[in-house]
Amino acid sequence: MNTFTKKSLKSYSYNELINLLSQYNVPKFRAKQLYEWLYLHHVSTFDEMTNLPKALRDTLANDYSLSNSTIIDTQKSKDGTRKYLIQLEDGYLVETVGIPSQNGQRLTVCFSTQVGCPMQCAFCATGKEGFTRNLLPGEICDQILLVQDDFQKRVTNIVGMGQGEPFLNYDNTLKALEIINDPKVIGIGARHITLSTCGIIPKIHEFSNVKEQFTLAVSLHSAIQSTRDSLMPKVSQYNLEELKDSLVAYVEATGRRVTLEYAMMRGVNDTNEHLKALIAFCSGLLCHVNLIPLNEIPDSEYLPSTTETGKHWIDTLESHHIETTLRNSKGSDIAAACGQLKNTFTQ
Ligand code: SAH
Repeated sequence: MNTFTKKSLKSYSYNELINLLSQYNVPKFRAKQLYEWLYLHHVSTFDEMTNLPKALRDTLANDYSLSNSTIIDTQKSKDGTRKYLIQLEDGYLVETVGIPSQNGQRLTVCFSTQVGCPMQCAFCATGKEGFTRNLLPGEICDQILLVQDDFQKRVTNIVGMGQGEPFLNYDNTLKALEIINDPKVIGIGARHITLSTCGIIPKIHEFSNVKEQFTLAVSLHSAIQSTRDSLMPKVSQYNLEELKDSLVAYVEATGRRVTLEYAMMRGVNDTNEHLKALIAFCSGLLCHVNLIPLNEIPDSEYLPSTTETGKHWIDTLESHHIETTLRNSKGSDIAAACGQLKNTFTQ
């Protein structure tokens, strides 16, 4: 069988690997061994799985692919951030970012969930290249493991804020989070895992029922419907009222607050009218506002808000008791910051 027609072992959760191996009449512990080779030892060939019997290795190699991903380019920012261009087994490319904290205690990975993105938000580079395909669960996990190997340091936090819309690849993304959270392998605590969505409401409802304490971030960017529709045309089918209702329901179901991401664009979504609308959106919602200075992307008509406007927004939101932070987007000198990821060399 040709590699591209074989089913990939990176499609399966732990329980699914157990089911899969049960068809080969091998003891159950073999599934755990295989799982550890994939996500603890992170090997790229069946031959390296030395505690599996040779016959089983050969059978697996015949029936399945490993969907290995490789780093083909690394760019290092002066702030320590590293952006990786990762090639998937079928040749497609995604970008992943490793962001060490200044005190060296944290290493955050910003991972991608799709090749390209179907959402085409007006101010984001990723959507400009269109959508190619969803990533497999294991291709999402491999991004974390590749960054861990490169930094020679444990990844402590992950954010699903790279390329793609996680809630349009919901099942694979949730399977990946299960593996990433699993202490048997990668073991990153749920509270250190955040997913960001542009607001796919049915999936926000589904995510509310996930028992692990993952964090939810929502790209709001405007609490005025017409502005939001022009910035994020592909989510215009969901209105702001429904979005707020889904977030209130999320808070009620999980007891966790939600993060609202807001990239500030001069004269577009940063007027006082927009500020008022944001305050109204936050009222009655347990939330935290994360203001993002707009990052430059090529051929874009949008400009970042002025520092004074940013300061005015922070002061006003805080005077309304809305917790607000200003995101210090790292790695903008290597086009690794929010909205700058695309699938090509950027040198
Ligand atoms: N599709 C998901 C995940 C992407 S997260 C989502 O929309 O939430 C990436 C974050 O960066 C989103 O909040 C996105 O809207 C924001 N972003 C996109 N382009 C940007 C830019 N040029 N400057 C700052 N933030 C941007």
